[in-house]
Amino acid sequence: MHTITPSTSHTLSTNTIATAVTAQRSYLLDTLSQLVAAPSPSGNETPACTTMEGLLQELGLTTERIPMDTDALSGHPLFSCPCSPDGNRFNLLAEINPPGNATPVGLNVLFNGHLDVVPTGPEHLWAKDPYQPYEQDGWLYGRGAGDMKGGIACVLTAIRTLQSLGLQPASRIGINTVVDEEDTGNGTLASLGVLQRARSKARYSGYDAVIIPEPFGETLMAAQIGVCWLTVTLTGRPAHVAYMNQGLNPISAGIQIMQALKQVQDEWNLPKNRHPAFAHVNNPININLGTIEGGEWKSSVPCTCTMGIRASFYPGRDAQEAIAWFSRFIEETARRLNPDLEVEIAHNGFAAPGCVYDLQHPAMQALSQSHAALHGAPPTHLACTATTDGRHFRLATDWAVTNYGPTARNIHGIDECVSIDSMLRVTQTLVHYIVTQCGVVPIASSNVT
Ligand SMILES: [Zn+2]
Repeated sequence: MHTITPSTSHTLSTNTIATAVTAQRSYLLDTLSQLVAAPSPSGNETPACTTMEGLLQELGLTTERIPMDTDALSGHPLFSCPCSPDGNRFNLLAEINPPGNATPVGLNVLFNGHLDVVPTGPEHLWAKDPYQPYEQDGWLYGRGAGDMKGGIACVLTAIRTLQSLGLQPASRIGINTVVDEEDTGNGTLASLGVLQRARSKARYSGYDAVIIPEPFGETLMAAQIGVCWLTVTLTGRPAHVAYMNQGLNPISAGIQIMQALKQVQDEWNLPKNRHPAFAHVNNPININLGTIEGGEWKSSVPCTCTMGIRASFYPGRDAQEAIAWFSRFIEETARRLNPDLEVEIAHNGFAAPGCVYDLQHPAMQALSQSHAALHGAPPTHLACTATTDGRHFRLATDWAVTNYGPTARNIHGIDECVSIDSMLRVTQTLVHYIVTQCGVVPIASSNVT
C-alpha cells in the first residue's frame, strides 16, 4: 500500500484543472452520446463494448477483451447464476502503466464501470427515442446516460484532460468496463479474476484504490445493501370461473405472498432492526415485485403465476443464506395459504451480499479531499439501498474502494438523464485525484500523438 505523496514535481492548481476539464466539455458529451447511442441491455452489450473499445483506442490505450466465462466463475463465493448466455460477450480492460514501466510513484488506481443498461420500458412514454441521446437544460438524456455511461465518460475525459496538458500518470491506472452488472455482477468478477491471476505472478500487487463512478450525486458510498433475485413459479388448479371455488388461483396466492414479504420488509426497516450503517436511512430494505406473468383466459382460474422478485438484506449476511431464508419463507407462506399450491423457486440473478466501505482508508480520504479541493466541501456519505460492483472489490480484495459519480435523474425509469455540470465536477475531482495520488509526468515525446 502506497500512502506517500507521489514524488512528482508536477502539481496543478485547482484552477488549471477546472479550466482544462471544462475545455473537454464537447469531448465529454460526444463520448457519452456515442456510448448511449450503442444499446446495451444486460445480455446484449456488445455494441457498447465495441464503441468503448474504439474510445479507449482513440486515447492511445491498449485494450484487452475479457470474455464472459461462467464455468470459470461458478465456484467463486461472489458468483451469481447468470440470466443470459456467455455468447461472445466481453469486458474491456485498459491499463496505463508508468512510462518505461517505472515503479509507480503513488497509488495504482482502477476505475470500474458497467456498460450494460436496464430495459427502456414502453418507449412511447419517453420524450424521445431512449437510444438517441440529446442535451436539454444542462442534462444529457438517454437510457444509460446516468446509469452509468456518464461516469465512464468522466473517466475517459479525465485521461483526455491529462493528455491535453501533456501529462500521463506516473502510477498504474486501470479502466475496466464490464457487462452484466444490472443482473448478476459477474462481469466485474471475470475481470477481477484476470487481474488477480495476472498480478500474483507479476511485479506489482494489483491496485491500491478502486473508484466506481456510479451516479449517486457526487457522494462517497459508505455502505450498500445486499440484494437477491428470486423467480417464483406457483402452480394452482385451473377451473371454469363459474365454479371458481373448485379451482386454486396462483395469481391471487402470489399477491398474498407479496403481502407477507412486505411485512418482512416493514419489520426489517424498523429503526431498531436496521444495520448501523443504515440507521439514518428510511426504508433501506425494499422487496419489489418486478415482473409477473400468469393466466390464460379471463374466464378461467389460472394455472400458473411466475413472479420475479428482488429482495434486499443487510450487510454481514451471506447471500446464499439470505436466498435460502426467503425461499423457505415463500414456501411456508404458500403452504399456509393452500397445501395444494405448488411452488418452484429459481435463483438466477443477484446473489449479492451487502458491504460497508472503509472511507477512513487514506486512499478514500484523499478522494474526499480532492472533491473538497475543487468544490469547497467534502462529499457527503451515502448508505446505498441498491447494490453495486463495489462489493466484489470490498469483499474479495484489500484494495480501498467506493462509488463516486455524477448526479443523475430517473435511472431505471423514463427520460433518464445525467447532469452535465455534475459530470464536469466529477471529472475535475478525478483529475485532481490522479495528479495528487498517482502522480503525473510529462508524456514522453515518442508517445506524443
Ligand atoms: Zn449502475
